[in-house]
Amino acid sequence: IKNIAVLTSGGDAPGMNAAIRAVVRTGIYHGINMFGVMQGYQGLITDNIKPMDARSVSNILHLGGTILKTARCLEFKTDEGQQIAYNNLKKNDIDGLVVIGGDGTFTGAKRFSETFGVKVIGIPGTIDNDLVGSDFTLGYDTAINTVIEAIDKIRDTADAHDRLFFIEVMGRDSGCIALRSSIASGAEAVLLPEKETSVNELIEKLALGAATKKSSSIVIVAEGHKQGGAYDIAKRVKETFDHYDTKVTILGHLQRGGSPSSFDRILGSRLGFAAVNALIAGETEQMVGLKGNEIKLTSIREALTAHSFKLEPDLMEMTEVLSI
Ligand code: ATP
Repeated sequence: IKNIAVLTSGGDAPGMNAAIRAVVRTGIYHGINMFGVMQGYQGLITDNIKPMDARSVSNILHLGGTILKTARCLEFKTDEGQQIAYNNLKKNDIDGLVVIGGDGTFTGAKRFSETFGVKVIGIPGTIDNDLVGSDFTLGYDTAINTVIEAIDKIRDTADAHDRLFFIEVMGRDSGCIALRSSIASGAEAVLLPEKETSVNELIEKLALGAATKKSSSIVIVAEGHKQGGAYDIAKRVKETFDHYDTKVTILGHLQRGGSPSSFDRILGSRLGFAAVNALIAGETEQMVGLKGNEIKLTSIREALTAHSFKLEPDLMEMTEVLSI
């Protein structure tokens, strides 16, 4: 393999820059010419592909976002778009591609590889932690740290006023961010997409807390929760339980930003390093991931089709026990 390009696509996640840096420097270390594609698959179509040297990734390890930018590119979903992208890769003589993103990014990469034989390796970059083949996705740890920092601040004001806060966190259909942040912030309850919790059960729990002199309560609602978002749940709870003054906070996109945690910097570095080594070893259509503190390859097909319940059972049990 002589020329490798790297791109970030879909939603951005903290730690992507660490992965880009590792990809570029690992390739250069092995004498490979490295390229950065701007704005995800959009840059393949517009031929926005730039050579990268070791210095082009200096001082980015600590930055959130992605220096290569990211985009959602509808054209890449069409046969014509894929053909244009391939022509541009050929023009630049690129024979290997590292894509950093989520399931949409991998779906596009798999199709591209199957149609044109381009060698691709995926790095799971999403705060949602919703991919099979990696215990943790890039950005997930930083997002949880950001969430608990925000909740700690909300807790101060909740406690001062005897308030009940409903805090909605990101994660799409995954409750991973919600579950971990509920443990780390000592939330009174957490509503997850993976588990049915009736509003009545929630009210009972809050009432018990009030009866045992809890001065404030925090309820974390995962955005993918099936019975509604934080506003809906808060409204329904308030209809029958008005012990506390009720407030709602949607944390939103602040969860996607910020300087990556040490965990995400190290994970991004490991995954970037492993992705280039996999291409050198002749691998393709594989995702590099962290499994039990080892870097492992999973086929992109499996990463996209398999489903796993990622919530740790002990954490699920602890949310009930530790919040009494
Ligand atoms: P996140 O999980 O953070 O949203 P993602 O990678 O799933 O990240 P998407 O917007 O779903 O984000 O996908 C990123 C890009 O991948 C799309 O904008 C598109 O260019 C490409 N893509 C997605 N699905 C396909 C497909 N079926 N065929 C070709 N390309 C695709």
